[in-house]
Amino acid sequence: MTPTSLATPRSRILSGMRPTGKLHLGNYMGALANWVKLQDDYECYFFIADLHALTTDYADPSQIAPNTLEVAFEYLAAGLDPARCTIFVQSHVSQHYQLPLLLGMITPKGWLERVPSYKEMQENLAHKDLTMFGFLGYPVLMASDILLYQAHYVPVGQDQQAHVELTREVARRFNNFYKLDGKEVLPEPDVLLTPSPKLPGTDGRKMSKSYGNTILMIDPEPVVRQKLKTMVTDPARIRRTDPGDPDKCPVGDLHKVFSAPETMAKVYGGCRSAGIGCIECKSWVVNALVQILEPIHARRASLTESRVMEILQDGSRRAGARAEQTMEQVRAAMQLPILTPPLAGAYGVLGNTIRRSTIAESARPPGSDDLESR
Ligand code: SF4
Repeated sequence: MTPTSLATPRSRILSGMRPTGKLHLGNYMGALANWVKLQDDYECYFFIADLHALTTDYADPSQIAPNTLEVAFEYLAAGLDPARCTIFVQSHVSQHYQLPLLLGMITPKGWLERVPSYKEMQENLAHKDLTMFGFLGYPVLMASDILLYQAHYVPVGQDQQAHVELTREVARRFNNFYKLDGKEVLPEPDVLLTPSPKLPGTDGRKMSKSYGNTILMIDPEPVVRQKLKTMVTDPARIRRTDPGDPDKCPVGDLHKVFSAPETMAKVYGGCRSAGIGCIECKSWVVNALVQILEPIHARRASLTESRVMEILQDGSRRAGARAEQTMEQVRAAMQLPILTPPLAGAYGVLGNTIRRSTIAESARPPGSDDLESR
């Protein structure tokens, strides 16, 4: 594990999110806000994990494409800058289909069954049949996402470290089996621990789309105010005259993340002495949230769908070029056949292409350049 302060500048970073639709403050504070800071100091690749969405939504993939576009909008609205990082869609980069298959050849099934989220997700999504090869293998897909970019670091919160550990084990196993010119091909990535503050939803449980308790990044101010109005507070504070404790109140938790120290002092003093009411206290949180959300809303309003598509296409091209460098090394290390002309002659289509170019070459003047024959 590598503390943030010791990480080498311009090391490569990879991270992504499933396209779950509109993102909420938990997504923003747990990941996006950190990514925005990292893009200046690291070579960053941020992707939208639409293939991961298929592992659970295979029976009805109708929302994956619109959600992918929505998440792209919100990456950019949060402040990811395509001039400073590469933003792409996983399924647009064909190498994300290739490496999982090859790594799947060497990953023991027991490793996958032991991943904590494997059982957890099956329980949480009991209404879906997740006894699929794709779902069991999603940690291999995840490992491939990271290893394709030979990423040095993966920014994660405490609770996601197990996935990076599995990626390290897969890389180690690959490197034990295969080498290229005596050297290891897949570097083991390190965890880059990023702040992941506890962010309660309006019902006091962890903010999560599945609980329906979120404050969305795109919620306008009146909606945020309305959601806060109904947010649960310290259960001991029943009447206005009852003292409360911000450490036992979800609104207090939001203050700890978003409010300035002066406001925090007023919250602690006023709540414990019953000197303030919960409505007033909540309005201070909303003021702090609006400060964070306003620039996000302004950036989002400046984006068009065609511009977002253009950014994703360019990002996928750049990501594909980087991923292919790794795939070339992986194929060579695994000694997969490379179609040089003598071998390619034995194959249909490529053989014909080569034969055509050979004919063309014989017909052209000596010394002329022919790209097709290269
Ligand atoms: S005053 Fe604020 S911190 Fe105290 S119980 Fe009410 S909302 Fe919670």
